[in-house]
Parts: sequence; C-alpha cells; structure tokens
Amino acid sequence: EATPKMLQQAAKDNMFLHFTRHSPFYAKNGEIPIITHAQGHHFWDQNGKRYFDGISSLFSVNVGHGRDRLAEAAAKQMKELDYFPLWSHAHKPGIELSERLLSYAPKNLSRVFFTTGGGEANETAWKLAKQYFKMTGKPMKHKVLTRSVAYHGTSHGALSLTGIPSMKKAFEPLVPSTFRVPNTNWYRAQDQFETEEEFGQWAADRVEEMILFEDPDTVAAFFMEPVQNSGGCFTAPKVYFDRVREICDKYDVLLVADEVICGFGRIGNWFASITYDFQPDMITCAKAITSGYLPLAGTIVSDKIYEPFSKGTTTFPHGYTFAGHPAACAVALENLDIFEEEGLNARVRENSPIFRAELENLKSLPIVGDVRGDGYFFAIELVADQAKKTKFTAEQREKLLRGYLPEAMLNAGLYARADDRQDSVITLAPPLTVGPAEFVEIRQILENVLADGLNHI
Ligand code: PLP
Repeated sequence: EATPKMLQQAAKDNMFLHFTRHSPFYAKNGEIPIITHAQGHHFWDQNGKRYFDGISSLFSVNVGHGRDRLAEAAAKQMKELDYFPLWSHAHKPGIELSERLLSYAPKNLSRVFFTTGGGEANETAWKLAKQYFKMTGKPMKHKVLTRSVAYHGTSHGALSLTGIPSMKKAFEPLVPSTFRVPNTNWYRAQDQFETEEEFGQWAADRVEEMILFEDPDTVAAFFMEPVQNSGGCFTAPKVYFDRVREICDKYDVLLVADEVICGFGRIGNWFASITYDFQPDMITCAKAITSGYLPLAGTIVSDKIYEPFSKGTTTFPHGYTFAGHPAACAVALENLDIFEEEGLNARVRENSPIFRAELENLKSLPIVGDVRGDGYFFAIELVADQAKKTKFTAEQREKLLRGYLPEAMLNAGLYARADDRQDSVITLAPPLTVGPAEFVEIRQILENVLADGLNHI
C-alpha cells in the first residue's frame, strides 16, 4: 500500500493534469491536491482536510456525493450487460434514457444521440447541422456563430466554437467558419442601455447582423448557453431568446442550446430552455445527466433535423466507442429518479432567490462589483473600483485570481472557481441538495476571503 508521501511523489512523477500550471507542484513545499473521498456536499483531501464543494466538482455532482444507489445501479447494469456500442444496435438503459430525456425536453425535440462528454456533444451538433443542410438542398450552409468568451469544449471543432482567444492560440489554425457575436454581459452594458430588455434586443440583433455579414446561405447554426458560464453567469432577458429564435427561423439557421452546465436542475428545470421558454433545434447536455458518477453526454435533436436521416441509404457517419455506455445510462436513470423523488428542480426554483439575496450581501465589500446568475448558478464579479467598475489589470488578475483567491478559498474550506478569462469572477454552483444554511456558510467564507482581496493585487 502506497503511503501518502509515495502517492504524492507518484502524482508528481507521472500525471499530466488538465488546464493546470504544473511548475508550482515542483517548488519547495509544492503539493498536488489529492482528493480521497466525498460525501454529500463535501470532499476530503489526502491530508484529511474537508472542503465544501461549491461548484459540484465541475458543475456535475448535482445530487451530491456518495449516493450508494448510483454505484449500485452501475454495478447491477455491468453484471447484466457490461458494454455494447450504439453502432447499429441499442440497449435497454439507452432506450429508456432516450425516452426519459425526451419527455423532459422541449416538445419539438425527438431524438437523442449519445456522446461521452459535452465537447463531443457540441462537435456532434455542428456536424449534424452541416450534414442536415447538405441533405436538404442547402449545401453551402456550414458556418457557425457563437458568443464571445463562451466555452464549448476542447476538440478542434468544439474549440473552434469557443470564444476565448487565449485558449485557442496554441492550437491555431483551428476549424474555419466560426464567428463571434456579443454575449449578454449586462453589467458592462448598463452604461449604454436604458433597460436590460433594450440591451437584449440589441445583442440578439447582432446575430442577425452577423448572419447577413456572412451570407445566410452559408450559416448553419448559432450556439449559445442559456446562462453563459465563461465571463461569469451571463443571463439574458426573455426578449433575447425570443428574438434569437425569430432570427434563426427567418434565415433557416439552427439554434443550439449548450446546456452542458444549465441542464439537469442547475437553472431549476430539466433544461434551461424550459425556464426561459424557447425552442432550440438541438440541446447539448452532459455533466449532471449522471451527476458526474460516470461519463455521459448527448445531443438532443428536433424532428426536423432527424427527418432526412430516417430515409433511404442515409447515415450519420459519426460516433464514439463509449457513447451511451450502458452503465452510464443506468446511472443517469437512477440519478433522474433521485431528482424526481427529492423534487430537486422545484427546490432550486424556490431557493434561488434566497441564494441570490445572501450573495448580494457581499456587495458591501468594495471589491465586489456584481452578483449575477440564476438557479443555483451565480457569479461574483470582482473589480478594482466598485463605483467605476474598474477591471483588474492582467498583472493584478495574476496575483488575485491565480495567486491569492484560489488558495485563500481552499484554506477556508471552499472549493469554488476563480476565473480570469476576461472578467474576474468567482463562480458558485453547489449541489442542488444544499439550502439556506449552506448559502450563509458560503457567503461567510467569501466575506472573509474577499474582505482582504484588494490587499493582494
Ligand atoms: N460546454 C460547456 C458550456 C461547458 O461548460 C463544457 C465543460 O465544462 C463543455 C461544453 C465541454 O464539456 P466536456 O468537458 O464534457 O467535453
């Protein structure tokens, strides 16, 4: 049995971590955090320290950690049918999960294409859009619009959809034919627009403008998250979604809702498209579909898109070995049972205003510029000057968001996301099982950590 010290050394010697700066691990006293176990809304590290899981690990563990019944559902399925691919065959958990997902999705959606992760689901949606138009007599439609600062995944296709230049730079040239439109950052737009509705209308009109700039005959799809994570929980007024739908209809552009984070209760419904009452042509989902217990994701598509694939000799030449893995589907079904039994979606809707109000208290700190979000998904934007909404410089962000904050939050026992992709934000997305007592706990920790923040820039 490896001692903790041996395990630490082996981690340093062998692992290549994701999105991680490795050099601090090799510095004197540098340690890779090694997570050993988890229960409810907490997890523990190798030193026995306990943390509040403020972002559901990676926006995934929505029903909380340590649910025996999810482990049992996986074991039961593996004993019956361990694995079989979805290549020209189906299996019971996959069939049942497709049916279940469609019963929760907006009514125009009628097919589920499983993938392993969210980036693959977006990749799939783009490829489907391209082939769909080739089969329906508009072969030039292939371009995709996405929103600035949005994250859609890391494969070449999904990264091309991503609107974060710093994340793409090392991998250019990427897949051509993607174009950025503004996101719905109302905090930064308030000085130029009277109302959020007016701003929403303006932002949606940029989608039309870009379609016209690029020629409607060449534009296949518009991808957007109902609440955009990157940049810090950008919500949009109803008029934005309505207007975007209208524009997509007008130019025959497919509307893809990236619900990789927003799905499965995060915004208080199975899908945020339902919360905001709009009809996407495709929904991509992942993460909390299994509450992260096993990898699973999917692209849910409309009748209209599936129709040409249902005829003649056509196929969609695309797929993944482990997509729709039977054990993952069985876990997803059990996970959705937990949602139903515990009324988690309604719980989020009821508690969301309480969560927001608790976080709003942080605005009494001079470093807090904005608190925004919906459901159990909030961002706190940090600024150098509250009244002037002054952004931090790159150097200040390095010190604050890379240096002080992540460490101070972890020391205080809170795992949350300090994001410096452009706007300086702390993101919170706790398991949906938490309530008012935990909102207070989160607020108290952040209050202590942030009170000292401006001394660290
Ligand atoms: N889309 C959004 C909105 C995401 O937040 C993520 C991951 O965080 C992805 C897509 C990519 O998902 P995955 O990491 O499962 O490929």
